[in-house]
Amino acid sequence: MSTIAFIGLGHMGGPMAGNLVKAGHKVSAFDLSQPSKDAAAALGVGIAGSAKEAVADAEIVVTMLPAGKHVLGVWTDILPAVKPGTLLIDSSTIDVESARKAHALAAERGCLSLDAPVSGGVGGAQGATLTFMVGGSADAFKRGEPILSAMGKKVVHCGDAGNGQAAKICNNMILGISMIGVSEAFVLAEKLGLSHQALFDVASTSSGQCWSLTTYCPVPGPVPTSPANNDYKPGFASALMLKDLKLAQEAAQAAGASTPLGSAAAQVYGLHNAWGEGGTDFSGIIHLLRGRGNS
Ligand code: NAD
Repeated sequence: MSTIAFIGLGHMGGPMAGNLVKAGHKVSAFDLSQPSKDAAAALGVGIAGSAKEAVADAEIVVTMLPAGKHVLGVWTDILPAVKPGTLLIDSSTIDVESARKAHALAAERGCLSLDAPVSGGVGGAQGATLTFMVGGSADAFKRGEPILSAMGKKVVHCGDAGNGQAAKICNNMILGISMIGVSEAFVLAEKLGLSHQALFDVASTSSGQCWSLTTYCPVPGPVPTSPANNDYKPGFASALMLKDLKLAQEAAQAAGASTPLGSAAAQVYGLHNAWGEGGTDFSGIIHLLRGRGNS
């Protein structure tokens, strides 16, 4: 049993903190939002009066916040109150540069740290089936791995500081591009008089096979559990896809990598979200590709 502080109890953080309680850990948590605190408290999570109060006795601190500026703000605030030797884990999806800055802040205080963003969405957070992509030293990983395992089903050490975030944005860039590709193929099939099911039956067992087709198929029918069968709800919100594609573009620019399709995917999702689709599943991009009003 470990004493864990958890900061950021939103859609993801609340159920993740709840799973740490279920695994027998003592969790002291904080969020700025009262509804988030109430929902986490209902899962048995202890609520502290402030982030600093939450971390005071912690052996491990987990943060699950919207973006890099929030993570750097919270880590700067709590580090003076954290005991040296504490392990800090950030599971938010943030830019690689901020993640590396956060590691440096922790090191200055004599703490270990990991960047450990997740894949698997709210369902994965609730069911403790997330995949964690982890960056940081071998020592930090060894200490953090059992804690992350209580919230997920797969924990992958991707290398040094920031490499968890690097793996996350590379994966989601593949996902954003592949969903547009699959959607374009369905739109072309419709124009050519080929049924959705026929395209699915061929492509899902041929070289066009990919997760966007076989798990999140953007048309209703072939994959009954895909968000397309539920009016493109809830799934993985287009706004979050755009966030991750923008992070990939920032990283590509900083690193001098050429990612023309990643850049195009960010533009396409930007347009989709500007039409008010940020809250629906990212497979709804097929509506934009058909031409709005033709869905
Ligand atoms: P969310 O907006 O539901 O939760 C964020 C929480 O952080 C909110 O409750 C907010 O009040 C709290 N917060 C913000 N600033 C704070 C501060 N200074 N101190 C304390 N609390 C603060 O977001 P989410 O959906 O839980 O996502 C969290 C992170 O996980 C994001 O980086 C997101 O990109 C990533 N992510 C989300 C999903 C998903 O499907 N929702 C999937 C994978 C990764």
